[in-house]
Amino acid sequence: MAGLFIDIKVSSEAAADAEVARKLEEVCPVGIFAVGETGLSIVDDNLDECTLCDLCHEAAPKGSVQIIKLYEA
Ligand code: SF4
Repeated sequence: MAGLFIDIKVSSEAAADAEVARKLEEVCPVGIFAVGETGLSIVDDNLDECTLCDLCHEAAPKGSVQIIKLYEA
């Protein structure tokens, strides 16, 4: 499920990389990424809090995190 304004996709390679997943969880100021027993997950309830700060883009390999602005679609 996406947020109302924002959807975020992480490539399966990046999501499967424990180091990248941990970094994503750490950098996002609004808690959109969570690492649990099953790996990286997206916290749907927080998606619309995204500030477009780009920290997740910097933390993950180029192109592996996609921020989709639904309101521009
Ligand atoms: S752009 Fe910033 S607020 Fe949005 S998901 Fe990435 S790290 Fe979180």
